[in-house]
Amino acid sequence: MRLVMKFGGTAVDSGKKIVHITNLIKSYHDKGNEIIGVFSAVSGITDEILNVSGYVLKRDKKKIKDFINKTRSIHVDIINGSIKNKTYKNKALQVVDVLLKEMENILNGLVLLTEVTEKALDHLLSFGERLLTPIISYSLLDKGIDSVYLTGQEVGILTDSKFGQARPLIDTTKIRVKYHIDPLLKENKIPVITGFIGADQNGNITTLGRSGSDYTATIIAVCIDADEVWLWTDVNGLMTADRRIVKEAKVLKEVSFAEAIELSLFGAKYMHPRALEPVMDTKIPIRIRNAFNLSNEGTIISKNPTKSSQKIVKAIIAIRNTALIDVSGGGMVGAPGTAAKIFDALARQSVNIMMISQSPSESSISMVVKKDDLDTAITTLDLTLLDKVIKNVRVNEDVAVIAVVGSGMRGIKGIAAKVFSSVSKKNINVIMIAQGSSELNLAFVVNNSDCEKAVRSLHEAFILTKINQDFA
Ligand code: ADP
Ligand code: ASP
Ligand code: MG
Repeated sequence: MRLVMKFGGTAVDSGKKIVHITNLIKSYHDKGNEIIGVFSAVSGITDEILNVSGYVLKRDKKKIKDFINKTRSIHVDIINGSIKNKTYKNKALQVVDVLLKEMENILNGLVLLTEVTEKALDHLLSFGERLLTPIISYSLLDKGIDSVYLTGQEVGILTDSKFGQARPLIDTTKIRVKYHIDPLLKENKIPVITGFIGADQNGNITTLGRSGSDYTATIIAVCIDADEVWLWTDVNGLMTADRRIVKEAKVLKEVSFAEAIELSLFGAKYMHPRALEPVMDTKIPIRIRNAFNLSNEGTIISKNPTKSSQKIVKAIIAIRNTALIDVSGGGMVGAPGTAAKIFDALARQSVNIMMISQSPSESSISMVVKKDDLDTAITTLDLTLLDKVIKNVRVNEDVAVIAVVGSGMRGIKGIAAKVFSSVSKKNINVIMIAQGSSELNLAFVVNNSDCEKAVRSLHEAFILTKINQDFA
């Protein structure tokens, strides 16, 4: 099989883990599979780079130096813990030093300008992934497996110039990636590719958005007609609920692309929200597996999961740290374009609206936003629309969105009744409700203090602890 294997930052944050995963890659390679590796940065590094760009703006050269030293020592420890052969070890150390020197020079240059543009930030962010791939490649060589490391740019991922959220220009990318990877596979080499990054038509480094390595993996997979994409991580797969809320939550064995997108839209933090786009129209399935628990087969996400797995409800998701904004005013009634004005004003300030509901009388609209966006949202509404389009803005700062997700809900009567009778039995007040017309999800808002109770009661009502037995 031709397998694209992506390893998340948590799977590669120590020398010991890297030894483990290079052995794992070797075992699949020895069985005759073609493997293409895609790697995130060491866990935490991307966040650190984001922090360091803040030090640039404060001209804090000491913090920048500390960052470089700390990053160096993290990677040197990983090298020492994962590569035995002296030559390979020295080569890896050398690459890390060259990259860090380059990064330090850039940072100091930016201090002079006291400015970090989006373009510069993407360039900086790329160092996270670029520091790790050579280490992985030399670790594979250390085990006698021929390997080459490449950046997203080198492998041919061409994107638009939307720094921080770039999208691949897929037709050219396909030709380029195939051109670079096919010969390597023919020579029995394992390409080790940086996740998260590409380059635009002018050769500027771009990033695909946080968690972008998942996206890189699926992009590469469609380019080279891979048989499967495996996302290796440190959890067993997609779950019926967050284990911190429902201890007995189970791993979902099969999920459809549509359901997985729904799960990611509702903030299940497991994957880049656009990661499934490239494979949606293909037969390439995605597996999510725990690199440290191979006995668990994980979750398989595919276009057409088996019929028996398409049961009613798959997962109960809770999104915390959200706030509800209610805008109202008699002037909104029968005034076309009110909603558009509101959403447009918020979109201009990059406020993402997670849920919307309008009363049939049209006199009020309720919206759920992330708490981080609340300040901006309120200020924007006050400044641009208050007393013009709307009269009142009310806020409930402490709510949670609960989403019930599963494709089997489509066209089945009584799901909503079951959901709401189950939460009302627990005395939970439902503040707002929305169901998409796809009927893949039913979402509602409760007070944050009721969140865990609501998730548990629904998990129980839909007997999700038995979900895997049902598939048998
Ligand atoms: P990174 O984001 O660092 O590249 P991963 O994407 O592999 O690494 O995962 C990071 C973290 O995201 C995991 O440690 C875990 O806490 C969470 N996570 C990943 N997949 C899932 C999942 N299927 N269900 C719940 N949490 C997940
Ligand atoms: N390192 C990047 C991030 O932290 C990309 C990824 O992990 O997939 O978002
Ligand atoms: Mg991730």
